[in-house]
Amino acid sequence: MKLTIHPPFHLLRSWEVCWKCGAGAEAIAFAVAAVTCDDEDDDDLPVHSPVVLRDVEQAPLLFLAAATRSDADFKKRYSRAADREYFMNHCTCGAPFGDHFLHNEPGHAFYPLDPTDAASIKVHEIDCTESQEIDCWFAGWSSVCPVENGTPAERIAVPLG
Ligand SMILES: [Zn+2]
Repeated sequence: MKLTIHPPFHLLRSWEVCWKCGAGAEAIAFAVAAVTCDDEDDDDLPVHSPVVLRDVEQAPLLFLAAATRSDADFKKRYSRAADREYFMNHCTCGAPFGDHFLHNEPGHAFYPLDPTDAASIKVHEIDCTESQEIDCWFAGWSSVCPVENGTPAERIAVPLG
């Protein structure tokens, strides 16, 4: 879904235990203050704020630059569940962490169950004040918002190309 996203933008850094090797790896996601859409019915857009993005098919360069500041292995991969390619987190063993799993399964990387769980998520503001275009979907609204309950970390400045 082609969307316009509005700042402030945040990079979320969490941790996921690998379903395949049993070790774990950093997993990242992006959050934005609001999303709007020019071509479609606005009724489908989330009314809450901030909005956590998932299934990112095309991202602004500054998001991809911000992703390289993390330890996550974040790259495009085909998802059978979603039937499309999107930017996915991977374990160091190579196993993919699908976004449904990270965002919609309680207790996983971006679905904290309580504020203590959420506090382990690092929240970096991305230094950008301009709205951007993106192709993605957005995660459901968990009662413990990872952006608001995460731990603020240093701001990330990225060159705007
Ligand atoms: Zn693994």
